[in-house]
Amino acid sequence: MTELNHKLLVLAGPTAVGKGTVAKYIVEHNPQVSLSVSATTRAPRPGEVDGVSYFFLTDAEFDELIESNQMLEFAVVHGKHRYGTPKQPVEAALAEGRAVLLEIDIQGARQVKERMPQATTVFLAPPSWDELVRRLEGRGTENPAEMALRLETAKVELAAQGEFDHVIVNDEVAKCAAAVVELIMS
Ligand code: 5GP
Repeated sequence: MTELNHKLLVLAGPTAVGKGTVAKYIVEHNPQVSLSVSATTRAPRPGEVDGVSYFFLTDAEFDELIESNQMLEFAVVHGKHRYGTPKQPVEAALAEGRAVLLEIDIQGARQVKERMPQATTVFLAPPSWDELVRRLEGRGTENPAEMALRLETAKVELAAQGEFDHVIVNDEVAKCAAAVVELIMS
């Protein structure tokens, strides 16, 4: 198991830093890398597809996965909904010798590192605080109250970057993705 774990890479970082964009870029350009599909209790946004974007679950279904020990990690994110990584697909992909990328929050990253110490954890940092705020506003998917909540979480998350194996600044998606892939492959 130890040998396989080094292919598990956790990508975390504050809201709107571009984790999703970087993760998508990596799997599109590197077919040997699998992106884990998380489970969540939040409702789908327009355009999101169940089983592709997330597994959209009820609270009871999410509880069931936890109770049957099928979650590698889980957390309440932005003080609201639960998100978690189903364990089985990750283990199956690692057993096949594939690299697996988890795009999760910081609480989840801590849990993965504890359970699978060989996992490599990467903190994706914004070029600056102002740029992070600009990206969040530009995304336009959150109302002002949600935005304020996410920025509060972002402050706490930025303070935790020292806990990660690597910090990569997301100033340019392709460059940042290449840096992450190098870590998976090394
Ligand atoms: P969103 O609701 O915008 O899709 O995601 C909100 C946050 O949940 C993001 O910061 C994302 O990294 C985090 N997240 C997504 N999937 C997981 C997961 O499986 N576990 C944990 N701990 N966080 C996740």
